Amino acid sequence: MNPYLRSARSATIAALLQHERLSRSELAEITGVSPASITEVSQNFLQQGLLVELLLPQTGKRGRPSVQLRLQSSHSYFVGISISEVATLMVVTDLQGHILARQTIPFCKTPAEVTAAVRKNYTTLLRDAAIPRSRVRGVGIAVAGIVNSDLGICRYSAALNWRDVPISELIGTALKLPAWVDNDANAAAVGEKFFGRARDYLNFTSIILGRSIGSAHYMHGMLYRGHDGGAGEIGHITIDPKGALCHCGRNGCLETIAGGFALRAAAKACGLSINGMRDLEVLAVQGNTEASRLLRTAGATLGAGIAYLVHINNPQCILFTDMEGFENGVFRTAIRQTIENNILPRFLGSTQILFMDAEPGFLPRSAASIAAFEYLTSL
Ligand SMILES: [Zn+2]
Repeated sequence: MNPYLRSARSATIAALLQHERLSRSELAEITGVSPASITEVSQNFLQQGLLVELLLPQTGKRGRPSVQLRLQSSHSYFVGISISEVATLMVVTDLQGHILARQTIPFCKTPAEVTAAVRKNYTTLLRDAAIPRSRVRGVGIAVAGIVNSDLGICRYSAALNWRDVPISELIGTALKLPAWVDNDANAAAVGEKFFGRARDYLNFTSIILGRSIGSAHYMHGMLYRGHDGGAGEIGHITIDPKGALCHCGRNGCLETIAGGFALRAAAKACGLSINGMRDLEVLAVQGNTEASRLLRTAGATLGAGIAYLVHINNPQCILFTDMEGFENGVFRTAIRQTIENNILPRFLGSTQILFMDAEPGFLPRSAASIAAFEYLTSL
């Protein structure tokens, strides 16, 4: 295929992912591709079943219906798997990121056990989703840790106690599918870019508020992974060299102060009985000074780190995904206030700060988006 046509195809898919549905003339205008090439590319995609035409009533003078194009959700399906120290979650999504079925696998100790459990649950997943195996185009895997996505290897995961695990090959072989792996924060950023709140942003930072803290950065519309997949390891920035021991083996990392795991431990050490972060927030609202102090310190420490990031990367938006159920309370307020108090006025008006409660299946759906992205960009 000639390079111009290939780039026209990629630009068409990217525009439809961002805008959902467009007319051919809008596609030509947005992508800068000639109308003749848009016609050729869209005809080809229509024949493949990747696109569908929608006839919309036209409000213009002549009253002719407008023909718009959109991606056909049922053209392709993707498996998404997120592996953590608590459980392995599996979903299957369509091309637009809608979850059709899900499975929860209890924690598995070793990569071989994870692979065997995933293989076993795959058939059930497809049966529940009622989709043919032949339409599943790939599997995306999200792992808490440092990942070399080019090689498909989890370099290091403190949470899983993994080193140099070729998880992409293991699961891809087991499911007989093309497989891609990335760390959970990167997967979340890709999911936000393709299916979520970040469709319109070229430069944004995604922060995962979970048991640990992860971050990922989109720059000029591309995920920035760094030299060896380690970009965004914000959770292990040293805040207090004499602080608590982190599971990475060092002391006083950011997540020993602001991560959900550490906050649970700190609450317990203060004699507070909580089942989750929502309980801690409720105690703070009820006037418990220890709960309030823990949440405020955690939020302020994280906020200070994010303020550095704003100065370093100048993102349009910081997207927080709350996996721990803090909701709107002391923690989020402390994060926001600390960021706003510690960035230059010129950044204040130009940096959006958004919080979202993670919906069920957020991470495995994000993992599926990696596979969707790789598949679509290969067409
Ligand atoms: Zn650490």
